[in-house]
Amino acid sequence: MLVVMKSHATPEQIQAVCDYIEQLGFRPHPLPGAQRTAIGITGNQGEVDRGNLDELSGVAEVIRISKAYKLASRDVKEEDTIVRFPGTDASIGGRNLAIVAGPCSIENREQAFAIAEQVAASGAQFFRGGAYKPRTSPYAFQGLGVEGLKIMAEIRDKFGLRIITEALDNESLEHVAEWADVIQIGARNMQNFSLLKRAGKLRKPVLLKRGLSATLEEFLMSAEYIMSEGNYEVILCERGVRTFADHTRNTLDLSIIPAVQRLSHLPILVDPSHGTGRRDSVLPMARAAIAVGADGVLVEVHHQPEKALSDGPQSIYPDQFARMMDEIDQIATVVGRKLPRGIQIEAPAV
Ligand code: PEP
Ligand code: MN
Repeated sequence: MLVVMKSHATPEQIQAVCDYIEQLGFRPHPLPGAQRTAIGITGNQGEVDRGNLDELSGVAEVIRISKAYKLASRDVKEEDTIVRFPGTDASIGGRNLAIVAGPCSIENREQAFAIAEQVAASGAQFFRGGAYKPRTSPYAFQGLGVEGLKIMAEIRDKFGLRIITEALDNESLEHVAEWADVIQIGARNMQNFSLLKRAGKLRKPVLLKRGLSATLEEFLMSAEYIMSEGNYEVILCERGVRTFADHTRNTLDLSIIPAVQRLSHLPILVDPSHGTGRRDSVLPMARAAIAVGADGVLVEVHHQPEKALSDGPQSIYPDQFARMMDEIDQIATVVGRKLPRGIQIEAPAV
């Protein structure tokens, strides 16, 4: 159920509607839009008993949402969600493209700094790197943990880059939430519902990667888990799914981009690194991702991929990343987008 407020509804009227929804035993989710505020209602297992909602002052209409996902749906919020990073000009969603680049894993300080310096020089605004790694083998490098997070925080201080890194479980979530700007929930955890709910209780953006065999509806339902707890800053990421094709590590499903944009207001990025698993495919698929309308790309970059402790074969070299930025820049203008180069940090108020 959705309560659409009149365009001139006052904050007091919005609050009164939220209070009334709580009295009915449900949870209100006020979602301000450009024209008007909509208030999503969750917490019901069946039909909401709408009581006198229609008659409260400031209410324009009360609508039933038939989709399984509510808060993630465009029915609830027409305009695109833009996730902003206070104190900077960086954003994810909206006209500006977001480029996330960095190694698969943070291996040591020198490695992370060498890569960060180069991706920052090419104009990336976001730095990625795993401190907690979901590896297929328990004997493979598992990440540096908190030490890796601290290295990334130093990188933010030095280069201004905003930090995106994965939380694997409830324990790492606490650490990641403390140090990072965006919490990544990986493909293997897309349906780890307790982790999604915990991330939903935080007030920090979450980058949710599509599961290896997730349908579009399952993907959006996982976003809904996070949003249902009150965290509305969810960024989706297509990273390829399992198919019979064996020429790539996964099959990058770019056709999900327009489908997501039709159904949801949430931003969506594309990860051509995990999506293809091959260095020579990353650039072409990154170009295609921007052409199809993605809000940005997430790519693995390594200055010495042959020595990388994880995902070397799919990591591009810094000079390839520089070329990718130039190519994306050109495609951006064709599709009505803009590629910001570098991140502007506001001086702290004195
Ligand atoms: C990653 O981004 O490092 C990662 C492990 O991705 P995914 O969850 O998509 O495999
Ligand atoms: Mn990786």
